[in-house]
Amino acid sequence: MTMNVLGYAAHSPTDALAPFHFERREPRANDVVIEILYCGVCHSDLHTARNDWQNTTYPVVPGHEIIGRVVSAGAAATRFKVGDQVGVGCMVDSCQHCAACEQGLEQYCEAFPILTYNSVDPHDQMTTFGGYSQKIVVSDQFVLKVPDGLDLAGAAPLLCAGITTWSPLRHWKVGKGSRVAVIGLGGLGHMALKLAKALQAEVTLFSRSPGKEADARRLGADHIVISTDAEQMEAANNRFDLIIDTVPYIHDLNPYLPSLALNGTLVLVGYLGDLDPMLNTIPLIMGRKSVAGSLIGGIAETQEMLDFCGQHGITSDIEVITIQAINEAYERMLKSDVKYRFVIDMVSLQAA
Ligand code: NAP
Ligand code: ZN
Repeated sequence: MTMNVLGYAAHSPTDALAPFHFERREPRANDVVIEILYCGVCHSDLHTARNDWQNTTYPVVPGHEIIGRVVSAGAAATRFKVGDQVGVGCMVDSCQHCAACEQGLEQYCEAFPILTYNSVDPHDQMTTFGGYSQKIVVSDQFVLKVPDGLDLAGAAPLLCAGITTWSPLRHWKVGKGSRVAVIGLGGLGHMALKLAKALQAEVTLFSRSPGKEADARRLGADHIVISTDAEQMEAANNRFDLIIDTVPYIHDLNPYLPSLALNGTLVLVGYLGDLDPMLNTIPLIMGRKSVAGSLIGGIAETQEMLDFCGQHGITSDIEVITIQAINEAYERMLKSDVKYRFVIDMVSLQAA
């Protein structure tokens, strides 16, 4: 039997999110049913609710930074038992047999991964609905174990903001002696600072917001560069092995390229779309520099990141909100007024 679940949905790009009842699938043998305790609020939720990427099917229930407890596990879902604390991130399935899936890079599945919300499950053609809801049904291969000892609300953002910044740090082999910069101090940016610092890199933040300097230092930045200050930008030339750019909207990359060191890479994780102004190739050619992109991370890599966070006591800096406050939270996120991730306490859904 399918199960009726209460969540919060957007019904159009301009409507506020509001209570919404929908059906979750009947659990399959390898499914885990999870009672959702906390769900982080990612800027991607806002992009999707407002149809910024022109691919939203309404109604949409956002949320892909999910922490919960297992309430039942199918006969084939043997890695999990009732009561386990678990996480679900941005993906809930993938083809499992393409070259990307075979390497554990399900996020780059050639058939495209089934996303936690705003996707269609190929097994039953049901739309996927995300974590702003009471319960979720997920194939056990896409369920993560949350290490004991981590604050559960603070761990929620690890499922997207954490893995999206961890994956490029690992891919570009950041470690002791690496020089890493992060553009933008929001949800992704603050996790990038924490994770790069824990990997023993020397860490710099590029920010438009001078008021964030003290926080940036507390979160792990050794240096801050105010990106609107030409002198400070110039002083950062030839410095960074890796720059992680988390800015959600179109912006000029050219001012950052001179700050890459020889062989350095600027990896985009925020903005999806055409660049304007175009890239000037001169600073790329003069120094064998790269501009790259990166999407979340694979399931094994997500577990690796969670285990690393468990060992190092890393969680997100959060502001816990009720589900009723979600629309106001979106407005604050648009003003970069988040310290540094909103997390919804799903108990509040009972009052909806
Ligand atoms: P967020 O919390 O809103 O943070 C974004 C930060 O970027 C802001 O705090 C601000 O930092 C800076 N910023 C915002 N608008 C800017 C502008 N117009 N120009 C320059 N800087 C600006 O967002 P988030 O949740 O971290 O998400 C960041 C982006 O990553 C979103 O577009 C999201 O969709 C995307 N994302 C991608 C992946 C992936 O797999 N690649 C995964 C998750 C999210 P300062 O005040 O410090 O300048
Ligand atoms: Zn996200």
